[in-house]
Amino acid sequence: MTGPLIDLHLHSTCSDGNESPRTVIEQAALHGLDIVALTDHDTTEGWAEAAAACADAGISFVPGMELSATVPGGSVHMLAYLFDPTEPALAAECAQIRDDRYWRLDAMTDRLAVDYPQMTHEFVHSFHTEGGTLGRPTLARALQALGIVDTISEAFDTILSADNDRYYVGHYAPTVERAIDLIRAAGGVPIMAHPWTLGRTSIAFAEMGDEAVHGIFARMAARGLAGVEIDHEENTPYGRERLRIIAAELGLIVTGSSDYHGRGMKPVSPGAHTTSPEMFDRIVAQASGSAVQWAVAI
Ligand code: AMP
Ligand code: ZN
Ligand code: FE
Ligand code: FE
Repeated sequence: MTGPLIDLHLHSTCSDGNESPRTVIEQAALHGLDIVALTDHDTTEGWAEAAAACADAGISFVPGMELSATVPGGSVHMLAYLFDPTEPALAAECAQIRDDRYWRLDAMTDRLAVDYPQMTHEFVHSFHTEGGTLGRPTLARALQALGIVDTISEAFDTILSADNDRYYVGHYAPTVERAIDLIRAAGGVPIMAHPWTLGRTSIAFAEMGDEAVHGIFARMAARGLAGVEIDHEENTPYGRERLRIIAAELGLIVTGSSDYHGRGMKPVSPGAHTTSPEMFDRIVAQASGSAVQWAVAI
């Protein structure tokens, strides 16, 4: 395959990744990527540093975010690209989510401390960069440092699983419909993140019939959903095939990305999955809130 290598979903210490925006971009460049989006949870804090690092590395920068959202069954994620970060309604919603994620982390910490007394607030907070959007990865890093789990993924599969009522606490997020409205109103392009997974709230799953899955995506598309992230490590191979058919039927944009959270986090490197240049062009064509910062070389 020729053409630029595009990864539209990476996290930094501005949310729950473990590398600074600059380091994330350097890793992306090392893996041969040409166009990269920083998509921290519910914040645009890392854009300036990432854009500067992209300019230094000679790659193109796409401003992005992964907005927390809810469906009746639980919590999901909506990728947002090229929106205006100063648009007040979206910025206020993000601030509210970040605030609730802060209290939610302390609530989960209190529950964990019942069984693991070393999990104090102070200890847990030492595993994230001040100001970054908090998520379970911070708890996973603390549990790993204590030797309670060997890997971050083991923590997510066991102690920190969303099914584990003993420790899991949710956090505030807008409905998917509101998330789509907010992103569009800010000139951005909403793409449903990893919609067909096991082990976390999933938009679709194998037991659902074609009509049901089609109906869900048709309603979101009518609301303003632009596309769907299909090539993602956690979408099941079977789900990816069914999503491809539905995306084609509905004319949705299809993306692929790594969801990199830094080395030692998920077993993916930048560029583990990529988005085609044609699909990326369609995202850019729909956006009016902010601009791609093109590398001079392209
Ligand atoms: P939260 O949003 O706080 O409920 O935490 C879930 C976040 O942890 C998601 O953004 C995941 O992508 C992220 N995460 C990072 N590393 C892992 C991992 N090894 N396994 C599962 N999720 C992970
Ligand atoms: Zn994350
Ligand atoms: Fe996500
Ligand atoms: Fe993500």
